[in-house]
Amino acid sequence: MRDLESCVRFLQELIRVPSLPGDEGALAARVAAEMRRLGYDEVWTDEAGNVIGLIRGRGLAPAVMFNTHLDHVDVGDPKAWPYPPHAGERHEGRVWGRGAVDIKGPLAAQIHGVAAHFRGGERPPGDIFVTCVVQEEVGGVGARHLVRHLRPPYVVVGEPSSNGLRRGHRGRVELVVHVKGRSAHASAPERGVNPLRVLANVIAGLDALPMRRHPELGPSSVAPTLIRTDQRSANVIPGEAWLTCDWRTVPGESAEDARRALQALVNRSLVEGATASVTVPTTTYTSYTGFSFDVPASHPAYLLPEDHPALVAARRVLAGVLPAAPPVETWRFATDGGHFAQEGLTVIGFGPGDEGLAHTVQESIAVEELEKALAGYAALAYEWPMHL
Ligand SMILES: [Zn+2]
Repeated sequence: MRDLESCVRFLQELIRVPSLPGDEGALAARVAAEMRRLGYDEVWTDEAGNVIGLIRGRGLAPAVMFNTHLDHVDVGDPKAWPYPPHAGERHEGRVWGRGAVDIKGPLAAQIHGVAAHFRGGERPPGDIFVTCVVQEEVGGVGARHLVRHLRPPYVVVGEPSSNGLRRGHRGRVELVVHVKGRSAHASAPERGVNPLRVLANVIAGLDALPMRRHPELGPSSVAPTLIRTDQRSANVIPGEAWLTCDWRTVPGESAEDARRALQALVNRSLVEGATASVTVPTTTYTSYTGFSFDVPASHPAYLLPEDHPALVAARRVLAGVLPAAPPVETWRFATDGGHFAQEGLTVIGFGPGDEGLAHTVQESIAVEELEKALAGYAALAYEWPMHL
């Protein structure tokens, strides 16, 4: 009970420290201070600003990384919230505010949960790393950098799952179609080559594109989302136009696979005198430490088989500390787990909080759910590794 109250107080404090992507410095310092207070063997921050805490194990089992992120999405209009978004107030058995579910609730539960037995004088069987990364909400900068220097074989991603197990999700790729035509006075369309005609053909052809299908995650999908031209005048035929498509990939489908499929449609959609290319855009992000990272707009899908031994063992271990064996499902959204899985790490998901409340003005987490997550994380740190 004392552990739970101290975890809740920590979560309330975290919500009171805003941490938009690129501005996580103050929160990172608070998180690192908590790890030190709890007696973690080592606590450090890498050059991207990711906070990493280590509890050394007894060398009897593989290392496990518990992972969440430091940033959150914007609060929007604070007046639309039932309680102030950065107050961390407690009402109706819940803690309210931006980040309560995504992801400060799971973050607080991981940091406190894996340290519970340790504070009682017992070391975990294997090394435990707790990592809180930067800029998950904008391209996964922190996770992409983290796996370059820290690669424990097993990962528990704490994105909200209502304390159920998660074993994967579809991926996401942004594709930009760039069409070059020829500009002309709009009163004489025959003198120009209108790139929007090509984009009209592309958009009309999207629904007929053959999509890959995954037996468990269903088909990949594509949706046109943004369109722009090089023109601001309504009476000029543009010379160039851009169309962004959001493509959700299934495991085994790479960003390049998606790009090639769209390029083939674009080639078939050309009109005389126009040329076009399809690319995955890259954006440069700078973290609060001044670290710059070029990030392609591509987040890999991943899926662990339902009978994977690590997943089966996690379910059994969690069944021992939760009221029932947790359901095993997939996430609707993409997570940093895709970046870890792509590097060959085995990734499972387990986190408190209702994912349906993430990114909404109703964001709040039940204290009761935090309590179960604390027990769950302790079991995943102390029992699960013995079965890996
Ligand atoms: Zn998240």
